[in-house]
Amino acid sequence: MCLFCKIIDGEIPNNTVLENDEFLCFHDINPAAKIHVLIIPKKHYDSFDVIPAQLMANMTEFIHKVADKLGVREDGYRLITNIKDHGGQEVHHLHMHLLAGEYVGRLVG
Ligand code: 5GP
Ligand code: ZN
Repeated sequence: MCLFCKIIDGEIPNNTVLENDEFLCFHDINPAAKIHVLIIPKKHYDSFDVIPAQLMANMTEFIHKVADKLGVREDGYRLITNIKDHGGQEVHHLHMHLLAGEYVGRLVG
């Protein structure tokens, strides 16, 4: 079972921000900004490259709720999803990084 599936199962503890039937949002263990959370579907998909469009639509709504809960909707935030090895993906369970809290810096590859 992959690392994030273990987090969903409760086998590995996490610091949850928000969750519903389909998605879980929790704090990144090694934050790269003042606010750095991860949003994952509870069903395993290897990366954004294979996510069904409807799931992405639901994930968008969920991310808006996360941004509301974190209070970053007005000032803004950054979303990143790394895809496969050349995209810098380390955990091969689809996840969106949400970074915010202050200007999060220029994005470099
Ligand atoms: P990727 O490079 O795959 O896009 O990002 C994986 C992210 O998962 C990294 O930002 C890393 O800090 C985070 N991460 C890795 N292991 C754990 C863990 O056990 N718990 C949490 N909360 N985050 C993790
Ligand atoms: Zn998984």
